[in-house]
Amino acid sequence: MLNEFKKFIARGNVLDMAVGIIVGSAFTAIVNSLVNDIFTPLMGLILGGINFSGLSIKVGEATIAYGSFIQAIINFLLIAFSVFMLIKMINKIPRKKEEEKAPTTKKCPYCKSEIAIDAVKCPHCTSDIEE
Ligand SMILES: [Zn+2]
Repeated sequence: MLNEFKKFIARGNVLDMAVGIIVGSAFTAIVNSLVNDIFTPLMGLILGGINFSGLSIKVGEATIAYGSFIQAIINFLLIAFSVFMLIKMINKIPRKKEEEKAPTTKKCPYCKSEIAIDAVKCPHCTSDIEE
């Protein structure tokens, strides 16, 4: 049981997932702040201070809070747009290219054939290779 659990934890993707979730929730905080603290007040300004979430109509006994629904849709669009912009920004950050693999072949200085990197004699032209 314990060994199985150890194996489960040791698998790389469990840790990757945990990191993903932690970074994801931190990211969510940024997006939420962006929407709640920046976009929503701006939208309010643009729309002349209309707060959708207060809108509702009464149908008999039931209250149809269609304002909250509109607000939810707007929030969704804003969040989707923010995430899109953030991803675009992140993608612009230049990433280090993956380190090139050490070469496993070299060129024979005499016949220019590809030969093993540690060859001391060319298998094509039989020249002795220094280095
Ligand atoms: Zn050669």
